[in-house]
Amino acid sequence: MKKNEYQKYPIIWRKEDFFIKIYCSIPNIATGILITTDRATFVVDPGDGILRDLNKDVGAVTILKVSDIFISHGHHDHVGGVWSLLTYLSVLKKKSPLNIYYPQGCKEIESIYRAFIKVYSKEVSYQINLRPIDSVKSFKRDSVTIKPFKVNHREPSADGNSSELIPSLGFKFIYDGKSICYGGDTAFCNALVKNAKDSNLAIIEAGAKDDTSSDLHMTIKQATQIGKTAKEYFLVHVPE
Ligand SMILES: [Zn+2]
Repeated sequence: MKKNEYQKYPIIWRKEDFFIKIYCSIPNIATGILITTDRATFVVDPGDGILRDLNKDVGAVTILKVSDIFISHGHHDHVGGVWSLLTYLSVLKKKSPLNIYYPQGCKEIESIYRAFIKVYSKEVSYQINLRPIDSVKSFKRDSVTIKPFKVNHREPSADGNSSELIPSLGFKFIYDGKSICYGGDTAFCNALVKNAKDSNLAIIEAGAKDDTSSDLHMTIKQATQIGKTAKEYFLVHVPE
Protein backbone atom coordinates (compact mmCIF):
# COMPACT_ATOMS: atom_id res chain seq x y z
CA MET A 1 0.00 0.00 0.00
CA LYS A 2 1.29 3.43 -0.89
CA LYS A 3 1.88 5.91 1.90
CA ASN A 4 -0.69 8.39 0.67
CA GLU A 5 -3.41 5.75 0.86
CA TYR A 6 -3.45 6.35 4.60
CA GLN A 7 -4.33 10.03 4.19
CA LYS A 8 -8.07 9.94 3.64
CA TYR A 9 -9.23 12.56 6.09
CA PRO A 10 -11.52 12.96 7.81
CA ILE A 11 -11.44 9.55 9.45
CA ILE A 12 -14.61 8.64 11.34
CA TRP A 13 -15.34 5.82 13.77
CA ARG A 14 -18.48 5.25 15.78
CA LYS A 15 -19.83 2.66 18.22
CA GLU A 16 -23.34 3.72 19.20
CA ASP A 17 -22.90 7.18 20.71
CA PHE A 18 -19.11 6.87 21.13
CA PHE A 19 -17.79 8.87 18.20
CA ILE A 20 -14.44 10.07 16.97
CA LYS A 21 -13.57 12.16 13.97
CA ILE A 22 -9.99 12.82 12.94
CA TYR A 23 -10.12 15.90 10.75
CA CYS A 24 -6.45 15.86 10.00
CA SER A 25 -3.16 14.33 11.12
CA ILE A 26 -0.23 15.34 8.96
CA PRO A 27 3.22 15.70 10.52
CA ASN A 28 4.53 19.28 10.64
CA ILE A 29 1.18 20.56 9.33
CA ALA A 30 -1.74 19.84 11.68
CA THR A 31 -3.73 17.42 13.78
CA GLY A 32 -7.35 17.85 14.90
CA ILE A 33 -9.62 15.35 16.62
CA LEU A 34 -13.16 15.50 18.03
CA ILE A 35 -14.49 12.87 20.45
CA THR A 36 -18.13 12.86 21.53
CA THR A 37 -20.66 10.76 23.41
CA ASP A 38 -24.25 11.67 24.23
CA ARG A 39 -22.87 13.67 27.14
CA ALA A 40 -19.25 14.51 26.33
CA THR A 41 -17.57 16.80 23.81
CA PHE A 42 -13.77 16.65 23.79
CA VAL A 43 -11.15 18.01 21.44
CA VAL A 44 -7.81 16.25 21.16
CA ASP A 45 -4.66 17.88 19.75
CA PRO A 46 -6.19 21.04 18.23
CA GLY A 47 -3.68 21.85 15.51
CA ASP A 48 -4.04 24.61 12.96
CA GLY A 49 -7.41 24.51 11.22
CA ILE A 50 -9.35 22.92 14.07
CA LEU A 51 -11.71 25.88 14.42
CA ARG A 52 -12.40 25.95 10.67
CA ASP A 53 -13.04 22.18 10.67
CA LEU A 54 -15.28 22.20 13.75
CA ASN A 55 -17.21 25.22 12.59
CA LYS A 56 -17.86 23.74 9.17
CA ASP A 57 -18.65 20.28 10.52
CA VAL A 58 -20.52 20.64 13.82
CA GLY A 59 -21.06 24.38 14.23
CA ALA A 60 -21.14 26.78 17.13
CA VAL A 61 -23.66 24.88 19.29
CA THR A 62 -21.35 21.86 19.54
CA ILE A 63 -18.20 23.96 19.81
CA LEU A 64 -19.77 25.65 22.85
CA LYS A 65 -20.12 22.23 24.48
CA VAL A 66 -16.38 21.51 24.37
CA SER A 67 -15.50 20.95 28.02
CA ASP A 68 -12.08 19.37 27.81
CA ILE A 69 -9.07 19.64 25.52
CA PHE A 70 -6.43 16.90 25.57
CA ILE A 71 -2.92 17.69 24.37
CA SER A 72 -0.50 14.86 23.62
CA HIS A 73 2.55 17.16 23.37
CA GLY A 74 3.47 20.71 22.48
CA HIS A 75 4.61 20.46 18.88
CA HIS A 76 2.99 23.06 16.66
CA ASP A 77 1.11 20.51 14.56
CA HIS A 78 -0.74 19.48 17.76
CA VAL A 79 -1.35 22.85 19.47
CA GLY A 80 -1.43 25.38 16.61
CA GLY A 81 -5.21 25.83 16.86
CA VAL A 82 -5.47 26.33 20.63
CA TRP A 83 -5.39 30.13 20.48
CA SER A 84 -8.19 30.48 17.96
CA LEU A 85 -10.33 27.88 19.72
CA LEU A 86 -9.94 29.64 23.09
CA THR A 87 -10.76 32.98 21.48
CA TYR A 88 -13.79 31.70 19.60
CA LEU A 89 -15.24 30.15 22.78
CA SER A 90 -15.13 33.60 24.33
CA VAL A 91 -16.68 35.17 21.23
CA LEU A 92 -19.51 32.63 21.66
CA LYS A 93 -19.76 33.72 25.32
CA LYS A 94 -19.01 30.30 26.73
CA LYS A 95 -19.93 30.16 30.40
CA SER A 96 -18.94 26.68 31.55
CA PRO A 97 -15.29 26.03 32.42
CA LEU A 98 -12.80 24.51 29.99
CA ASN A 99 -10.13 22.05 31.14
CA ILE A 100 -6.89 21.67 29.21
CA TYR A 101 -5.02 18.45 29.98
CA TYR A 102 -1.42 18.30 28.84
CA PRO A 103 1.83 16.60 29.79
CA GLN A 104 3.47 18.32 32.72
CA GLY A 105 6.36 20.45 31.48
CA CYS A 106 4.74 21.22 28.12
CA LYS A 107 5.92 24.83 27.85
CA GLU A 108 3.98 25.54 24.67
CA ILE A 109 0.55 25.16 26.30
CA GLU A 110 1.53 27.16 29.36
CA SER A 111 2.95 29.92 27.14
CA ILE A 112 -0.14 30.04 24.92
CA TYR A 113 -2.36 30.19 28.02
CA ARG A 114 -0.31 32.98 29.64
CA ALA A 115 -0.29 35.04 26.45
CA PHE A 116 -4.02 34.46 25.94
CA ILE A 117 -4.89 35.57 29.46
CA LYS A 118 -2.62 38.60 29.14
CA VAL A 119 -4.45 39.73 26.01
CA TYR A 120 -8.02 38.77 26.94
CA SER A 121 -8.17 38.73 30.76
CA LYS A 122 -10.81 41.49 30.86
CA GLU A 123 -13.18 39.92 28.38
CA VAL A 124 -12.73 36.16 28.46
CA SER A 125 -16.17 34.76 29.29
CA TYR A 126 -15.23 31.43 30.86
CA GLN A 127 -12.80 29.82 33.25
CA ILE A 128 -9.80 27.98 31.78
CA ASN A 129 -8.30 25.29 33.99
CA LEU A 130 -4.82 24.07 33.14
CA ARG A 131 -4.48 20.43 34.14
CA PRO A 132 -0.88 19.25 33.79
CA ILE A 133 -0.58 15.47 33.89
CA ASP A 134 2.42 13.70 35.30
CA SER A 135 0.95 10.33 36.15
CA VAL A 136 -0.84 7.45 34.56
CA LYS A 137 -3.78 7.77 36.93
CA SER A 138 -7.19 7.48 35.29
CA PHE A 139 -9.86 10.12 35.77
CA LYS A 140 -13.42 10.60 34.63
CA ARG A 141 -15.05 13.39 32.63
CA ASP A 142 -18.71 13.31 31.62
CA SER A 143 -18.99 9.51 31.88
CA VAL A 144 -15.77 8.93 29.92
CA THR A 145 -12.77 7.46 31.73
CA ILE A 146 -9.47 8.88 30.53
CA LYS A 147 -6.29 6.95 31.08
CA PRO A 148 -3.17 8.94 30.19
CA PHE A 149 0.07 7.10 29.52
CA LYS A 150 3.58 8.36 28.92
CA VAL A 151 5.01 7.81 25.47
CA ASN A 152 8.45 8.33 24.01
CA HIS A 153 8.52 11.33 21.69
CA ARG A 154 11.57 13.42 20.94
CA GLU A 155 12.61 16.45 18.94
CA PRO A 156 15.90 17.25 17.23
CA SER A 157 18.29 19.10 19.56
CA ALA A 158 19.33 22.65 18.71
CA ASP A 159 22.63 21.51 17.18
CA GLY A 160 20.78 18.99 15.04
CA ASN A 161 23.12 16.17 16.02
CA SER A 162 20.95 14.43 18.57
CA SER A 163 17.41 14.44 19.92
CA GLU A 164 15.78 15.34 23.21
CA LEU A 165 12.90 13.66 24.98
CA ILE A 166 9.89 15.96 25.34
CA PRO A 167 6.88 15.65 27.68
CA SER A 168 4.40 13.55 25.73
CA LEU A 169 1.33 11.47 26.43
CA GLY A 170 -1.05 9.07 24.81
CA PHE A 171 -4.66 8.84 26.02
CA LYS A 172 -7.04 5.96 26.31
CA PHE A 173 -10.71 7.02 26.32
CA ILE A 174 -13.03 4.41 27.80
CA TYR A 175 -16.79 4.73 27.54
CA ASP A 176 -19.64 2.27 27.86
CA GLY A 177 -17.27 -0.72 27.81
CA LYS A 178 -15.44 0.46 24.68
CA SER A 179 -12.06 2.09 24.34
CA ILE A 180 -10.21 4.35 21.96
CA CYS A 181 -6.43 4.44 22.33
CA TYR A 182 -4.70 7.50 20.87
CA GLY A 183 -0.94 7.27 21.02
CA GLY A 184 -0.08 10.86 20.05
CA ASP A 185 3.40 11.07 18.56
CA THR A 186 5.88 8.48 19.73
CA ALA A 187 8.65 6.10 18.84
CA PHE A 188 7.83 2.43 19.40
CA CYS A 189 7.26 2.11 23.16
CA ASN A 190 5.88 -0.43 25.59
CA ALA A 191 3.26 1.89 27.07
CA LEU A 192 1.60 2.23 23.68
CA VAL A 193 1.92 -1.50 22.99
CA LYS A 194 0.17 -2.20 26.29
CA ASN A 195 -2.60 0.37 25.91
CA ALA A 196 -3.38 -0.31 22.27
CA LYS A 197 -3.80 -4.03 22.83
CA ASP A 198 -7.47 -5.08 22.79
CA SER A 199 -8.71 -1.50 22.41
CA ASN A 200 -11.80 -1.21 20.25
CA LEU A 201 -9.91 1.38 18.26
CA ALA A 202 -6.22 2.27 18.19
CA ILE A 203 -5.00 5.42 16.47
CA ILE A 204 -1.34 4.95 15.82
CA GLU A 205 1.13 7.38 14.34
CA ALA A 206 3.41 6.30 11.52
CA GLY A 207 5.36 9.52 11.23
CA ALA A 208 8.79 8.17 10.30
CA LYS A 209 10.08 9.70 7.06
CA ASP A 210 10.97 6.32 5.57
CA ASP A 211 11.21 2.68 6.60
CA THR A 212 14.21 3.17 8.85
CA SER A 213 13.31 3.19 12.48
CA SER A 214 13.63 6.60 14.12
CA ASP A 215 13.64 7.71 17.75
CA LEU A 216 11.04 10.42 16.95
CA HIS A 217 8.36 8.45 15.12
CA MET A 218 7.31 4.96 14.07
CA THR A 219 7.53 3.32 10.69
CA ILE A 220 4.40 2.01 9.01
CA LYS A 221 5.57 -1.49 9.84
CA GLN A 222 5.97 -0.72 13.55
CA ALA A 223 2.67 1.16 13.72
CA THR A 224 0.84 -1.66 11.94
CA GLN A 225 2.32 -4.20 14.33
CA ILE A 226 0.81 -2.28 17.27
CA GLY A 227 -2.43 -1.45 15.47
CA LYS A 228 -3.15 -5.07 14.71
CA THR A 229 -3.34 -5.91 18.42
CA ALA A 230 -6.44 -3.70 18.69
CA LYS A 231 -9.86 -4.69 17.35
CA GLU A 232 -9.64 -1.91 14.77
CA TYR A 233 -6.95 0.63 14.02
CA PHE A 234 -6.08 3.65 11.95
CA LEU A 235 -2.58 4.71 10.99
CA VAL A 236 -2.25 8.48 11.14
CA HIS A 237 0.45 11.15 10.90
CA VAL A 238 1.97 9.50 7.84
CA PRO A 239 4.21 11.99 6.00
CA GLU A 240 2.78 13.15 2.69
ZN1 LIG B 1 5.47 15.73 17.50
